[in-house]
Amino acid sequence: MTIPKLMPFEAIVCDHCGLKQYPRPRCARCQRQLGLRYFGLEMPRDLNHACLPQLIGSLVHDLRLRRKMSQAALGQTSAVNRSMISRLENGHAVSLMVLLRLAAGLGVEEIYFRVGNGRSKSG
Ligand SMILES: [Zn+2]
Repeated sequence: MTIPKLMPFEAIVCDHCGLKQYPRPRCARCQRQLGLRYFGLEMPRDLNHACLPQLIGSLVHDLRLRRKMSQAALGQTSAVNRSMISRLENGHAVSLMVLLRLAAGLGVEEIYFRVGNGRSKSG
């Protein structure tokens, strides 16, 4: 089974000047510390749904590593059992509630799911 790329994107919006940008400690425009963040998932229209738990698992894994958090640390901030985080990252399906708690524990404030990437190839 080939796993398609889910193409997560993560962005931070500066509270002060409103600039949307890739995750970084300080705003590229006004140099203030950044707070708000969200991530979105672009799902190809022809996505094999059987792949979804694995894709979500690798996304959570990536976000966790980018924040330099252990599974135990994420378990604490999100009130999710560490073994459940391990199962999720290994491609087992978990409930939406667990995902939302993990997102909160990772400092994510909004999640978007989008089918198809909505971009045109022109230009
Ligand atoms: Zn700014």
